[in-house]
Amino acid sequence: MSLVTESSTPPNEARNDAGVSLFLDEQKALACIHCGLCLGSCPTYLETGNENDSPRGRIYLMRALQDGRLALEAEAARHLDLCLGCRACEAVCPSGVQYGALLEHTRDHVEHHYRRPWFQRFLRRVAIERVFPFPTRMKLALLPLRGLRWIGLDRWLPKFLKDAAALVPRDAQGVDLEEMYASETGGGASSGVPQSVGFVSGCVMPVLFGATQQNSIGLLNRQGLEVKVPRDQGCCGALYAHSGQLELARECARKNIAAFEAISVSTIVINAAGCGSTLKEYGSLLAEDPEWADRAAAFAAKVKDLSEVLVVEPGSASGTSKDRVTYHDACHLAHAQRIVREPRQLIRRVAGTGFVELPESDVCCGSAGTYNLTEPAMAERLQSRKVENILKSGATVVVTTNPGCLLQIRAGLERAGATHVRVMHLADFLAELPGSTV
Ligand code: SF4
Ligand code: SF4
Repeated sequence: MSLVTESSTPPNEARNDAGVSLFLDEQKALACIHCGLCLGSCPTYLETGNENDSPRGRIYLMRALQDGRLALEAEAARHLDLCLGCRACEAVCPSGVQYGALLEHTRDHVEHHYRRPWFQRFLRRVAIERVFPFPTRMKLALLPLRGLRWIGLDRWLPKFLKDAAALVPRDAQGVDLEEMYASETGGGASSGVPQSVGFVSGCVMPVLFGATQQNSIGLLNRQGLEVKVPRDQGCCGALYAHSGQLELARECARKNIAAFEAISVSTIVINAAGCGSTLKEYGSLLAEDPEWADRAAAFAAKVKDLSEVLVVEPGSASGTSKDRVTYHDACHLAHAQRIVREPRQLIRRVAGTGFVELPESDVCCGSAGTYNLTEPAMAERLQSRKVENILKSGATVVVTTNPGCLLQIRAGLERAGATHVRVMHLADFLAELPGSTV
């Protein structure tokens, strides 16, 4: 029985003469030459060994759905749901397949044509999409958990809720940022970067990572940069774009573009990898909107990850950290933004010879936005795989650049009893340790 519900078709979804939805850019899909070189990089294929859980298999499923050769039913949706959207496949593809774009449009089609079981609908549409992108709602949603923890009843939660609660650190503190942070050290023109930068505060970061926000701004200030944080900004839209709600993602993009246009900066800094990749893709997100396309492209060209803006002085001495430090590549920094060298250079500046590479550093930790809530079983397998590799490396500090990875890896290490290993955002690592002069 088909689960298609035509009434929810997105208004801008094209159809062919036979009335079939054309949600997929056929040319982008045909770029896949089926070589299979991406299979060894795909975390879900590594775990299941099932071709349908591989990039090549999923592209085949997407095309079969569009061609009408496959009904949009539970099994097809399952293989697409299981994709992390990590884009490791995209980074190794010799044919330049834009897998992330194919997935986003397919998910948009799935969410508007496939009726999920009620719990999945509630989880996605209400618990996640109506809470996570709104910091005030997130703070309110966390109150019951803090209360349960305070009276010691959190251990009696059902497994799903207990696992979700384990992701929230007990010492999590938020922050309300000011609109302006002046630098005490003067202009940063000597480093070739502008003197004023905009800062994207995000949704999860100001609720759970207040110190990281302050450290990020502090590092920019120390580099001579004045930091402006526009009040009118909101969620970057990554959560919506990755979960099949492209129109909602576009609304977020328009709001942020207008907010940052008002502060006239030539660089916009973000310290969360997942948000950064979406911000850098506003141009393609709004390419079909004549009023916003050029403004979106101009905004996207200004966006930089924090690690791209912080500068390591040439010839600077290696650091003095006594820790054994490793680095986990957040998928949306390494694969979507292709930034792997800059964070390592910054870490080595502090850690010196204490830096060790992490085996499988660029394999997803299972966080993948809200994947660890919607697909907890696979997320836990990948979390365990990540923890095993960290323990194998002998590291006592794991540095990364995305809030989801921080929460997922911390929870995994805690479950494994490896409480001697600290998991830190790059900004906290650079700000805290001696020898940090970036
Ligand atoms: S997505 Fe790229 S790497 Fe994977 S099978 Fe297709 S062409 Fe090959
Ligand atoms: S995005 Fe990640 S999980 Fe999805 S097919 Fe590509 S490599 Fe596999």
